[in-house]
Amino acid sequence: MEEQYLLLVYVLPPKMSKLEEKAIKLLLKYENRGLLQSELWHKLGVTSREGSRIAIKLEKKGVVKRVKEFAKDRWTRRLVPLIKQVTLEPIKGAPCPSCIYNNVCGKQGTVSPNTCLWIEEWVTSSTSSKSLEKT
Ligand code: SF4
Repeated sequence: MEEQYLLLVYVLPPKMSKLEEKAIKLLLKYENRGLLQSELWHKLGVTSREGSRIAIKLEKKGVVKRVKEFAKDRWTRRLVPLIKQVTLEPIKGAPCPSCIYNNVCGKQGTVSPNTCLWIEEWVTSSTSSKSLEKT
C-alpha cells in the first residue's frame, strides 16, 4: 500500500486593496449563493462604477465569478466567491508543527509518520473526542 502523508498546503491570497478585501469578506458570508453586484455596492457604500471595478479586479484575481442574471427587471451580475473560508481547527493540537523531527519526517526522510506514536496518539484522541461531541 502506498504511504499517505498529511500534506499542509499554504495558499497565499492574491494582493488586494482594502475595499477588495472588504468585498470578498462580505461575499464569503453568502458562500455559494453570492450577492447581486448592486447589493454588494450598497453594503460596501461605493458607487456602481467603483463597485464594478472592484468586481472585475476580484474576478481577474480568480476569487469571484461574475454570473449574468436577470433580477429586479434587468440584467445584472451575481458575484459568487470562488474561495472558501478555512479554519485551522481540524489540525489544532497536531504534534508535527513543533516536532523536533519535522524536517526529517516524510516520504524521503529518516522518520515516517506511519510509525509515529505522537501522530497516532493525536489522531486517536482527536477522533475519540469528536465521537464524544456527537453523542
Ligand atoms: S515524527 Fe511524528 S510528530 Fe514528528 S513530524 Fe513526523 S509525524 Fe509529525
